[in-house]
Amino acid sequence: MLENTITREQFQTLLPTICDEDTSLDSAGWSTENPLWGHCAIVSLVAQNLFGGELLRASLAETPGLEHMRSHYWNRLGDGSVEDFTKPQFCGNYPSKLKAEPRERSYALSFPETVKRYKLLAWRVARAFNEGNQIFKDSIYQKCFYAALDSPCQKMKFGCVITRNGEIIYEGCNKTIECLRSLCEPRCIRLSIASRTESMLGACGHAEEGLWEVVHRGIPISECELYVVGVHTNGLSWLKGQVEHTCLRCAVLMHDARLRKIYVPVVDRWQGITTETALVTARRYATQEKKV
Ligand SMILES: [Zn+2]
Ligand SMILES: [Zn+2]
Repeated sequence: MLENTITREQFQTLLPTICDEDTSLDSAGWSTENPLWGHCAIVSLVAQNLFGGELLRASLAETPGLEHMRSHYWNRLGDGSVEDFTKPQFCGNYPSKLKAEPRERSYALSFPETVKRYKLLAWRVARAFNEGNQIFKDSIYQKCFYAALDSPCQKMKFGCVITRNGEIIYEGCNKTIECLRSLCEPRCIRLSIASRTESMLGACGHAEEGLWEVVHRGIPISECELYVVGVHTNGLSWLKGQVEHTCLRCAVLMHDARLRKIYVPVVDRWQGITTETALVTARRYATQEKKV
């Protein structure tokens, strides 16, 4: 199995091959000669997923010729080092006297256009990391992956798509249950609990619990199928090695709701399991008969 990480050097080398006019803030100004043009915010967001640390931002309002780009983003990584992965976009004329200020991720992601480009770039990084893997050609897998990127979970992001007779009726992720928030602040309680056990403990609702939203809409769950995908907090895909569902909390829910089928990504394809099988496989982890 591959290590689930990429190095800074690999990331820097990968960038020009996955950045284009669709991921650039300035598609009109983008060219193959300068592939990183207009990519600073989303590259910094993806780099923060991969290498930790914080986002740095400076205004370009006073930088002649770059005023229209408004701001520039780069990173102070988890180990304290400062990295500007889109530096090559300035072609040797790096703006001088930039006043760096740390910026919250939530600020950069408060612009819907940035979110769209960020998700596309994150997807391309994950796809490149799993080069040739055909699940990255699957549109439901992509929707699950995009949904997972919205998860605030510090341990693992999950994205879920629910279909009814082949039509997508729900897309969502594991997200904070407000009344339980203190369980995971500042540090997620689940980081000190063995994975796949004690599944009720934690402030994050589970992605599969999106099923309730479908219930509230009055849709019969027995006509629905559910797809669920894990994404590591570094933004890379978690693909299962075997067909199984590993969470007893969700397995019980899906079984009692009479969900038609559950699909999980195994190596490079979807594999479907019944809710009975999910109960059996999840139970083994819950009792620690099987361990991660
Ligand atoms: Zn969590
Ligand atoms: Zn669960």
